[in-house]
Amino acid sequence: MSGRFLRLITIDEARRIIDANIQAIGGFEIVPLIEADGRILFEDLHAPVDLPPFNRALMDGYAVRSPDTFGATEEKGIRLKVIGEIRAGDAIEDLEVGRGEAVEVATGARIPERADSVLMVEFADRVGEDELIVYRHVAPGENIQMRGDDIRRGENLLRRGTGIHAREIGILAALGMDQIKVLRRPRVCVISTGNELEYPGRELREGKIFDANGYMITAALLELGADASFIGVIRDSYDELRGTLESAISEGFDIVIISGGTSAGRGDILYRVVEDLGELLIHGVRIKPGKPFLFGLCRDVPIFGLPGYPVSAMITFETFVEPVLQRLTGTGPGEKKRVKATVGARIHSAKGRQELMPVRLEDSSEGVIAYQVHGGSGAIRTLLDLDGYIRIGEEVEIVEEGEEVEVELRVGRGNLPPVPP
Ligand code: AMP
Ligand code: MG
Repeated sequence: MSGRFLRLITIDEARRIIDANIQAIGGFEIVPLIEADGRILFEDLHAPVDLPPFNRALMDGYAVRSPDTFGATEEKGIRLKVIGEIRAGDAIEDLEVGRGEAVEVATGARIPERADSVLMVEFADRVGEDELIVYRHVAPGENIQMRGDDIRRGENLLRRGTGIHAREIGILAALGMDQIKVLRRPRVCVISTGNELEYPGRELREGKIFDANGYMITAALLELGADASFIGVIRDSYDELRGTLESAISEGFDIVIISGGTSAGRGDILYRVVEDLGELLIHGVRIKPGKPFLFGLCRDVPIFGLPGYPVSAMITFETFVEPVLQRLTGTGPGEKKRVKATVGARIHSAKGRQELMPVRLEDSSEGVIAYQVHGGSGAIRTLLDLDGYIRIGEEVEIVEEGEEVEVELRVGRGNLPPVPP
């Protein structure tokens, strides 16, 4: 290192700087209902129709005028005349129930005019084609759901900011809506840098490695609800990086995430490009792994620089980028999922930097045990083994076996505690 980091700051200071420099993403999008899962409602939603849209039978039975059934008992039935039948979905124009009459109805059928209740089929005997003996009386309104009883047209049903999931999609479909106004998703562009990087699927030539970060970070962004585009691998070249960054900015990306080349060495150019195009606000954080994290603004577009080692890239992503995305997508301040665990073997930690130590969890009869994952940030195997991290304070050098710790579970859908074998 040539010592050209800006002052190393703490995680909290870094988060404050990032927060202060990220504007809410405005605007909405109209999406087909079936694609709305996971999106956030842009404005209050008022019911466009009454539900149910007509007075409807809640039971199979007979639509009747309730006074006609008064006095009916099991011993002394009352005779009514059956004048028709209505099934669910039937349109009925002129069917009217007169005094002493009944209409056979199915659950979900429209109630004919002048009937005020439905007598359940169990309480009547059909005699021939058009006669009925009623053995119980019904109260007005019994077994009928009146139009708008369920949801009244104009009612404010869902608030702006509500997360749309299967339940909400069901409600909106029931209201007849096939599209919905949701918050626009932040458009995030992902770039990998490094002369050594090759795309997966290509032939790996001498001295090269496959790009892991581009794919991993794009996937993590998609999981968080961003509109993420991986725009590719670029060389460690000032001009190439600057050109790529400039075009990402002019294409209207809300955020740019670059991995690799974020340090302060001779070959590291990102901080210079950011300085030249805008303002470098963070360069170096007292976190391990992840010290060469970088953040700046280029023409008001936030640029995150993640260190190249995939574990460092992931940890700095989870620490600094994930909370921002949760804010921008409206999915919350998003408390990290945590589990309590006991340390299984002594862990040594670096002084002077807050350490996010990757740990693997094991279930035991005494609860969850956390073991340090030893590969370090340079190993892909660390990504495979880690279930989460424990946070070790700047001044702490040793976490003893048997100590109680809180484990922050790793990002994304796969973040549940391990399942015992
Ligand atoms: P850097 O941050 O560019 O100094 O890179 C640190 C280490 O991470 C080097 O060994 C790089 O080869 C490796 N690295 C950088 N970018 C990636 C990437 N996208 N995928 C996998 N490894 C990477
Ligand atoms: Mg590099």
